[in-house]
Amino acid sequence: MTELLIRGGYLYPADAGASVVPNGSVLVSGGRITAVGPAAEVQAPEGVRVVDATGKMILPGFVNAHWHDLFAMRLPFRGTLRPPHDRDDQPAFMALGGNLQAISTAFDSFTDKIGQLTVDEADAIARYSMWTQLRTGVTTLGDVGSFNRPESLAGAAKFLGMRASVSTWASDAVCAPGETRFRRTRDADGVLQGIEGLLRHVAADTSGLLRARPTSVYGVNMTDELGAGFAELVAKYDVPFATHVGALRNEYEVSRAYYGATPVRRFADLGLLSPRFMAVHTAFVDEDEGKLLVDNNVHVSFSPAKYGHAGESTLTETRAIPEFRRAGLDVSLSTDGAALPVGGMVEAMKVTYQVVNEMYADPTEVLPTDALAMATRIAAKGLEWHDIGSLEVGKQADVVLVGIDDWRYLLNPRPLEGFLALGGSADVDTVIVAGNVLVEGGRATGFDERELEANYLEALGSFSVRALGVDPEVVAARTRRPAGRGGTGT
Ligand SMILES: [Zn+2]
Repeated sequence: MTELLIRGGYLYPADAGASVVPNGSVLVSGGRITAVGPAAEVQAPEGVRVVDATGKMILPGFVNAHWHDLFAMRLPFRGTLRPPHDRDDQPAFMALGGNLQAISTAFDSFTDKIGQLTVDEADAIARYSMWTQLRTGVTTLGDVGSFNRPESLAGAAKFLGMRASVSTWASDAVCAPGETRFRRTRDADGVLQGIEGLLRHVAADTSGLLRARPTSVYGVNMTDELGAGFAELVAKYDVPFATHVGALRNEYEVSRAYYGATPVRRFADLGLLSPRFMAVHTAFVDEDEGKLLVDNNVHVSFSPAKYGHAGESTLTETRAIPEFRRAGLDVSLSTDGAALPVGGMVEAMKVTYQVVNEMYADPTEVLPTDALAMATRIAAKGLEWHDIGSLEVGKQADVVLVGIDDWRYLLNPRPLEGFLALGGSADVDTVIVAGNVLVEGGRATGFDERELEANYLEALGSFSVRALGVDPEVVAARTRRPAGRGGTGT
């Protein structure tokens, strides 16, 4: 049953003791870790497949618990159709504190567009989008609502061999500009049936790769009926819950005006606040909300490599997130999502390590091993996926190898520190899920990356013309592959 020995690398298991094993090995049997520790102590039987980790770090697979597949929107949504130069860019959408009414309206409009994806388009887009995550070391994704069909995300996870907690795009109301009360846009029961169908679909799956959880697109896009339904599903299916909350500067004021209560207070009143509540963003909360989050011991997931890119002032303006961490909440890292690729989990670790330490003028506020735990073990805890997230005996063998045999690491006894200084997502060399080597030397082992990319471009083009009204000639010109370019893994 023993199938794999990952031998002789610089091992960071991301266990609770933040162990470091400069010459370590991991033995895998039946997809799980059966031995881990100093290479001399990890013995493998004859004939077992060996992955030589000499000159590499051995890390747990990254767990990205706040992600969206938005790759169907690559043309219009701050994407490909922008001019090449950036001099005329204007801050919009999430920037300058964010225009909550405009965002609430845009998010609500996604639901009907998602229904216009054909199954083939949805499958092709999901496979390519999730491949870019796997390629950057993500072995487990936590969807918080995607611009795609949830069944296609589930199917893509199985096609790629990676883990995913899938969800639905769930909005039943808007706080529209120029109005003073929330306006219902669709029946809450229909939205709840969608997520319940997905919870059943995933419960019947035997691959071990799939889970599901209800998620709310945004508190300001959720009626009390929908919120109460979420609370029932969390109890009935024994699953965690996630929502965007506290992302924008005027969010509590708008929520108070349109719904009569602040967002976190509403979640509390609906019975959703608990340790299984994953709050994403969570920068702009008032005093009452902050206390509710701490008292209920919620999980906070933040995506610092995306915030500068979007013009969000999530970390430095309020300091709420590092203060929640200081108050003892579990705080994990994630990437969020956009129509074009944003920073990956490695970039999220880098930004956390750099920016939070700068904020507190203290290089020990977030140690490199803290950043790693936030991207692995703590994030897995947030998904309640208890047998992943660290390299310990009995856990799933989800492993990432990163090359450290070059000038960046010379004479540095702490390669993880060197990685957070000068490394990036593209340095991920090998990705293993449940003992299956899915990426090796930065390339997919199980499928043709060029074919995956070509199928994505075709699906993107047909969907953009039919459902988004983009000119077919523009689509043809923009989705043409540059001649002679390599595969997507480069
Ligand atoms: Zn998000």
